[in-house]
Amino acid sequence: MNEAKIIPRFGVFILLIPAPFMVRLPYLELITGQIMSPKQPSTKVVTRFAPSPTGFLHIGGARTALFSYYFAKRHGGAFRLRIEDTDKKRSTAEATQAILDGMDWLDLHHDGDIVYQSQNADKHRAAAEALIKSGHAYLCYLTPDEISAEREASRAEGRAFRSKWRNGGTPPKDAPFVVRFKVPQGKTTIMDQVQGEVTWNNKDFDDLILLRADNSPVYMLAVVVDDHDMGVTHVIRGDDHLINAGRQKLIYEALGWDVPDFTHVPLIFGPDGKKLSKRHGALGVDAYADMGYIPAGLRNYLTRLGWSHGDMEIFDDAQVTKVFALSDINKAPARLDFGKMAFINGEHMARTDVETLLYYGKKFFEDINGGVLNTAQMARLTKALPHIVSRAKTLDELADKAFFVTRERPIEITGKAKKPLKPDTETRLRDLLSVLKSIKEDAWNDQNILEHLQAYITNEGIGFGKVGAPLRACLTGGAASPDLSLVLELLGREEALGRIEDCLGTYF
Ligand code: GLU
Repeated sequence: MNEAKIIPRFGVFILLIPAPFMVRLPYLELITGQIMSPKQPSTKVVTRFAPSPTGFLHIGGARTALFSYYFAKRHGGAFRLRIEDTDKKRSTAEATQAILDGMDWLDLHHDGDIVYQSQNADKHRAAAEALIKSGHAYLCYLTPDEISAEREASRAEGRAFRSKWRNGGTPPKDAPFVVRFKVPQGKTTIMDQVQGEVTWNNKDFDDLILLRADNSPVYMLAVVVDDHDMGVTHVIRGDDHLINAGRQKLIYEALGWDVPDFTHVPLIFGPDGKKLSKRHGALGVDAYADMGYIPAGLRNYLTRLGWSHGDMEIFDDAQVTKVFALSDINKAPARLDFGKMAFINGEHMARTDVETLLYYGKKFFEDINGGVLNTAQMARLTKALPHIVSRAKTLDELADKAFFVTRERPIEITGKAKKPLKPDTETRLRDLLSVLKSIKEDAWNDQNILEHLQAYITNEGIGFGKVGAPLRACLTGGAASPDLSLVLELLGREEALGRIEDCLGTYF
């Protein structure tokens, strides 16, 4: 076949063209769609999130997890989850569950099975053995006293820890030993996607322990073996691990394995510019859920925190997935800005369907109601939410703004809320009740109600203030509420008239 032919097939034009022509005709990429997709790394991208269970999903961890997720998805790769549960004291089942719950709430889903680091100890030990065999690791029999002495000496001489056993020797009989990595001479360089080129002098790296005296593997070895085992191509994590990348690269090389691409993301700082800590309050994703953030809002905020693309501020997963690039991560630490977080959350709430708002807001609606909502309350709330949602930035605020619709008759009106119910307002309220009663069920809407109220005050020659405040007090009991005519529509005819009648019967 010497000519390109366009054959219509399944409604799509497939271009059949001899391979040599493809090389000479790059514009054909347009037709094959290649030009539209991002440059693909040569192997399938695999990223991972590797939290140590501490009792909650840290928002900094959640942010690096989002970066890992979006990067993997942009390149059609996989986002894996590894629980680094080797610290037996802290790594309880509850602490692990808290991370899984946090990811679930955040709607951040990993691919494949969860890997538990503690279950891979045999693989870690096998790697240590391979390193001993190849001369990259050695058995070290230093006693505690010798270790202290070497520590002091190395510190005094401004060099890294070296054991006299790195060059072999006759082991003492039945003495305990650890396995140490034999740091090679030279320099180690990584090309970090955010930090740029980073170089260490190997003589500054200690001969670190790979296996402890009880044969248990240390973190530094476990991470390398697990990342290799999981096929991780891109390690994206907090920059507190930057120095580990140098040490880990040496272990990869000693094992003869491909070194993954590294991205070390600056940590999140508090609003005061200091490293985020307990002092700043909410650290876990669960705390933000409790404050009334919705997953889509928090995802957008955390992703935008320290990453930017043009003027993209409000985006969903699909939008960020299309453009996410590690090179757009800022090198400077990002500062938490609760005002901006609430703003972004509000924008997402306004784009969220009622069913989802009811799902995530359940606890907030029930808290303010003092219990589970009944069918009638749910019906009023469902109808009201689209009209109120733009007035709130968090679910907490939304529940507050929606409380007027879910209140149960008879509404108890107390304190300041009672003030507008002065004796001389009774006649006006009775008038309004009959005006409103004259509106039929099928004409009970904001606009029509407003026209009736306006006709009444015009006719009476009074201002709206005279009747607005007492009517609002009867209808809402002082709860936050939108325009009166909208309040009346959202309550529904029967509920609204009932509340006014209750009010007239109780407070006059
Ligand atoms: N488990 C480590 C942590 O939670 C992360 C290790 C890594 O990402 O390489 O800080």
